[in-house]
Amino acid sequence: MTASTRSSGYYNRERETASPEGWRSYHDRQIKSLAEQAYKMAPAITDLFDRAGVKPADITSVDDLKLLPATTKTDLARLQAENPPFGGFLTVPVNQLKRIFMSPGPIYDPQGQTNEFWGWAEGFYASGFRPRDVVINTFGYQMTPAGLMFEESLLDIGCCVIPTGVGNSETQVKIMKDMGVTGFVGMASFLRKIGQTAIAEGLDPRKDLALEIGYVAAEILTDALRGEVEEMFGMRLRQGYGTADCGCLAYECSERNGMHFTSNAYIEILDPRTREVMGPGEPGEVVVTLFNSTYPLIRFATGDLSAFTTEACACGRTAPRLTKIMGRVDQVTKVKGMFVHPQQASAVIAKFPQVEKFQIVVTRVNEIDKLTFKLEMAQAPATGDPFYGEIAGAIQEGIKLRPELEIITPGTLTEKSELIVDERVWDQ
Ligand SMILES: [Zn+2]
Repeated sequence: MTASTRSSGYYNRERETASPEGWRSYHDRQIKSLAEQAYKMAPAITDLFDRAGVKPADITSVDDLKLLPATTKTDLARLQAENPPFGGFLTVPVNQLKRIFMSPGPIYDPQGQTNEFWGWAEGFYASGFRPRDVVINTFGYQMTPAGLMFEESLLDIGCCVIPTGVGNSETQVKIMKDMGVTGFVGMASFLRKIGQTAIAEGLDPRKDLALEIGYVAAEILTDALRGEVEEMFGMRLRQGYGTADCGCLAYECSERNGMHFTSNAYIEILDPRTREVMGPGEPGEVVVTLFNSTYPLIRFATGDLSAFTTEACACGRTAPRLTKIMGRVDQVTKVKGMFVHPQQASAVIAKFPQVEKFQIVVTRVNEIDKLTFKLEMAQAPATGDPFYGEIAGAIQEGIKLRPELEIITPGTLTEKSELIVDERVWDQ
């Protein structure tokens, strides 16, 4: 199949290329009917509305969502434990579900009767999957929804699916060769392993295998890993973003410049602490309202950090795009509007081997956030030593914030010391 065949067309042209007004009225309609139905049928949603003092009639547009609190994954696990098995979110009797899964948490995930329940087909199509692709699906098929959630959508497009699951890379190579497999679904790191296995067997993946298109999820895809795998197979690799609770939330198109929001949900980026709605380019937590009447999650906070852009995309799809997934909310601290990740800070400090350990302390003085790097060093460099300017410059470049520096004596920090200590006090 030619690259342009894989780049052209839409799964649902009318919806994916809607005008801003078209999107707006579609989202408003979905949210209004979801609020009405969910309030009536899902006890957890009734309770959530009542506690917030909100009536279903108050929710008529996306702007009204801000009246409702967000539900986190921790809340969902707690509600399921208190009110088993689905925490009061399910709107149908359990025996009317199609399948039931269990994800780590533990959290039960229901699959309703609707076709293509998790909505990945739109993303698969945008990334380049087409009818009659023969696809190995290397996600697991037991307990968690991963394998079946992708399979349903591949079948919906008209692909032939080979449910290979995780592992067995030698057998995966054999199947790919025998069946002329053109598509891969799974994790990019596993696809690289399959390629390495093929090479070790004396095969040339570009010539001896027929792989043209891959769709990866469930791990952060670096440019280096994507480039290596695309080169190894001579293929196109695209990624999607979703969760076991929500299904597909965003996906890349042929342009590879961020992940378009799905049309199956309304996605907001909220400040993780204040729940303020963030605009384009402002980082925050991905919060999802699913257009799913079987399991209506309203303002479900995924715990993932991202930002979005509304700039036009050459593919013609008009949905905003997540620029990238930046990590998890519980691992980061927001300082002066910027997220500070432990691993990002560690990467900067690792360039200065004379620093034995470090700790970041965030304080707030006169309404201004202050970021202090405490550096454990055998010997403090003399005042005016270039070290101070170099490390401050590296931190500013790495995490976009200007730090204060404090040298502390070795032994002050222990294995149990937190990497980031937030000492700010917030008015409730
Ligand atoms: Zn696009």
